[in-house]
Amino acid sequence: MKKLSDIGTIKEILGRHGFTFSKSLGQNFLINPSVCPRMAEMSGADSGVGVIEVGPGIGVLTCELCRRAEKVVAVELDKRLLPVLDETLAEFDNVKVVNADVLELDLNRLISEEFPGMEVVVCANLPYYITSPVIMKLLEDGLPVKAITVMVQKEAAQRICAPVGTRESGAVTVAVNYYAEPRLLFSVSAGSFMPAPKVDSAVIRLDIRSTPPVDAPPEKFFRAVKAAFSQRRKVIANSLAAGLGVDKASALDILEKAGVSASARAEKLSLADFAAIAEQL
Ligand code: SAM
Repeated sequence: MKKLSDIGTIKEILGRHGFTFSKSLGQNFLINPSVCPRMAEMSGADSGVGVIEVGPGIGVLTCELCRRAEKVVAVELDKRLLPVLDETLAEFDNVKVVNADVLELDLNRLISEEFPGMEVVVCANLPYYITSPVIMKLLEDGLPVKAITVMVQKEAAQRICAPVGTRESGAVTVAVNYYAEPRLLFSVSAGSFMPAPKVDSAVIRLDIRSTPPVDAPPEKFFRAVKAAFSQRRKVIANSLAAGLGVDKASALDILEKAGVSASARAEKLSLADFAAIAEQL
């Protein structure tokens, strides 16, 4: 069994397949041997559990998931990696590779077809150019998944896992907290990848909530959040007016009825504040 985190092994396999890294597809493969077992372990991959992986690359994380989970479905966009994965995953009979763009895929359908009756988790080292769209898709599609464990850029991890209502938070923090309870698991240095990216990374886990923490319909809640953070440095009265496309008097009226201070900044608002604003829209 070849060690897929070994640089020599990766070079040998990729060289044989004539593969060259695509920067535009976010192809930075893990070469730190301790990361994948730890990530797979903390993702909840276990017997009886189905795992969706996004972007298996050469299959280094996929192998660890296959060793633990009942079944793994790995979604890879780059078809040049399919013959590579055929080779590196040959020893496993509980894996299926789907050649598709994860952003285009009907994941609800995939789950009902591939994982009937199973608990499902997501585990992935995400391509960084689509971190937020992938995370938001996984959350907004209302998938029957227990948890999402993903490697993202460290800065994105810190933003997502910051407590709502603090300076470090942003629209993505509020959005993620509506659907899940985020937690930062561990950091991973840039040198753990080949080729090494410019920034460090971190693994986060999002435990999906059974119901949202506030009583607000998603469409209005997210309109409020998007508008409030549209001009993050401005006070909420101004950012809300600009983001909703209404005059300042209307924004002030919404805020007064919602019981939110007009001079606060979006980053200081709680989930309940956003829900109260949403109620007025
Ligand atoms: N899992 C491997 C690892 O940890 O070494 C590779 C991770 S690499 C950061 C991201 C992977 O996502 C690449 O294999 C890339 O081809 C794939 N990818 C990029 N965009 C994708 C998309 N839209 N849908 C599915 N896979 C994608």
